[in-house]
Amino acid sequence: LQKISIFDTTLRDGEQAAGAAMSLDEKLDIAIQLQKLNVDVIETGFPAASKDDLGAVNIIAKEVTDTTLCVFARAVESDIDLAAKALKGVQNGRLQIVSPTSDVHLQKKLQIDRDKGLELIRNSVKYAKNLVSEVAWIGEDCSRADPAYRIDCFNAAAESGASVVSYADTVGYATPEDIHQDIKSIVTSLSEEFSVIVGIHCHDDMGLAVANSLSGLQAGATEVQCTINGIGERAGNAALEEIVMAIKLRPDCYEFDLNVDTQLLMQTSELVVKHSGMSIANNKSIVGKNAFAHGSGLHQFGILKDASTYEIMSPETVGCTARKFVIGRHSGRHGLKHKLLDLGYELKNEDLEQILELIKSKLKNKRYINDDELLGLIETLKSN
Ligand code: MN
Repeated sequence: LQKISIFDTTLRDGEQAAGAAMSLDEKLDIAIQLQKLNVDVIETGFPAASKDDLGAVNIIAKEVTDTTLCVFARAVESDIDLAAKALKGVQNGRLQIVSPTSDVHLQKKLQIDRDKGLELIRNSVKYAKNLVSEVAWIGEDCSRADPAYRIDCFNAAAESGASVVSYADTVGYATPEDIHQDIKSIVTSLSEEFSVIVGIHCHDDMGLAVANSLSGLQAGATEVQCTINGIGERAGNAALEEIVMAIKLRPDCYEFDLNVDTQLLMQTSELVVKHSGMSIANNKSIVGKNAFAHGSGLHQFGILKDASTYEIMSPETVGCTARKFVIGRHSGRHGLKHKLLDLGYELKNEDLEQILELIKSKLKNKRYINDDELLGLIETLKSN
């Protein structure tokens, strides 16, 4: 099986999400958790953009010794100098350089032409190679770049000494079909003498980040950049927990090997919510509050017969303590009976029917009732 490297950028791209800035202690806390989760690379920050990030990687390196720690830099010497300084004394350090590949970024942002863009890649990668042992390059806005020029960029980075070369769909413009084609052409064009790793980095502006990432892996990328809960710039990055579980649940489609301990996904998600202040939707895949909640009587009945009827993974697989039965207008006798047994009440069928009647009459404008309200109904029944 092809081993996939999980590159977590929660502390760099994730932190770039509006309002998600974290303190050094919070970053350290998350990095330690990511090491437990067993990701392969942790991007710790952008030293040139923040003084905190300059010191963060060294502090993290004291606690996180088994994981590659990466810092981010633009293709300018002052950025690379700071990034290299931040990595001093870090054993498994990586310096990732970003530079544009699309005409719109080359011309509008940097006012340079394509040849200058290639020069920028070569010079910056070589410059960084003199300072640190592991240098990576990531092409910004690859999905809107000219295909032939994009391939030239990847080859320039590989020839100059980058050991990882990644494709960023910076603006979330690509479709899974685009990504498949683009990554395939990059992988086949890279000379084997360089033995580089090809990475993929996707954004969720059209809700395609996870699908695009998986498509990139199927096309030959072997490292995927993602964040916990999918936090990141604008609509966010590809969600780590979704990519990991898709690979785990569908080995028939995704024949990859992963190191991640899926049972820590829920815990990690909760920690990132706490420290980033970015809450997630109840219906968020894998780690949402409702990801294992069953509302309808039909589904609750099925689950009680056999959980595989309505669950493709057990809650425990991702570290969720229990599935939930939501009691509301759509509930039936079986689900209610199970819920009440959980709460310590064993009721006869006719009592259950009465409770259901009471629930339905009470829930005119509400969607569900909580445990206390449910217990209140039992008291009402007893007193009648
Ligand atoms: Mn990004």
